[in-house]
Amino acid sequence: MTFAELGLAAPLLQALETLGYKTPTPVQHQAIPPVLAGRDLMAAAQTGTGKTAAFALPLLHKLAADGKKVGSNSIRALVLVPTRELAEQVNASFREYGQGLSVSSYAAYGGVSINPQMMRLRRGVDVLVATPGRLLDLFRQNALKFRDLQILVLDEADRMLDLGFSAELDTLFMALPKKRQTLLFSATFSEEIRNMARSRLRDPQTVEA
Ligand code: AMP
Repeated sequence: MTFAELGLAAPLLQALETLGYKTPTPVQHQAIPPVLAGRDLMAAAQTGTGKTAAFALPLLHKLAADGKKVGSNSIRALVLVPTRELAEQVNASFREYGQGLSVSSYAAYGGVSINPQMMRLRRGVDVLVATPGRLLDLFRQNALKFRDLQILVLDEADRMLDLGFSAELDTLFMALPKKRQTLLFSATFSEEIRNMARSRLRDPQTVEA
């Protein structure tokens, strides 16, 4: 199986060739087609399995294909991550894979000044990668609207719960559009993660890599 056979657009295939990715990893192979088809997804995947590309590639494909312009203070996709390090890493991956597309991405996390983040969000961002606490702060300060949000990714969902972000996630879910595509990635499928999937995902495709 090749990346082209998974249905990804030419600029993404070009970026993957430049990066030296030859074949999809198992999680990419299993996750990319259902995500392109618009399904919700629940994936068990550890770091190092290629999970970032498993969601970033189909997200970039879909956002580029629908070609909508993002409005002021709006975002089209949200990737929630547990830590600022992961936020920077995931944002860097979106930039690498999306180098041939005009899909913008930005990382926002706590522990640094919120003002530059508020300024950047004024222009709108296609893909916002954020930690839950800072995301909620930005939302409460009206720096963010979720009206245009089409896709939500929960990356390392088990770590977000371990770090105590459960209440933040509940508040966010209430503010997000009901009509959206949701992808949940977690190293383990604990009972808490299964409950989250049951209440927040719609008929998800399950992937275990
Ligand atoms: P992740 O599991 O997302 O943290 O990715 C682990 C590492 O594998 C990263 O350094 C990626 O750049 C790399 N990687 C992801 N997918 C592939 C692939 N299909 N072929 C080669 N390397 C990959």
